[in-house]
Amino acid sequence: MACQKITYPDKKAAITARNKRQAEDRGLELRVYPCPRCRGWNLAKREVNHWKPTRAAQHARHESHRHERRNERHRMRAALRKGGGDE
Ligand SMILES: [Zn+2]
Repeated sequence: MACQKITYPDKKAAITARNKRQAEDRGLELRVYPCPRCRGWNLAKREVNHWKPTRAAQHARHESHRHERRNERHRMRAALRKGGGDE
């Protein structure tokens, strides 16, 4: 499948190209990412966030952390209740 963007064969080449372009244009922020379309590496501008599904992933991770913490607190409270007033 063809890709509209410039494709680099590996990450290193893409990073080199990114550094060069960023040096030419100071305001430019580029991100290197593996492209599933052309199976090479592409550069994307940072403000373009369609390649950022991580926000949902981060949220999911955050939620699971919260659950863990809640469970821990629950367990602690249960342990306290059990131990309290026995002796
Ligand atoms: Zn591509």
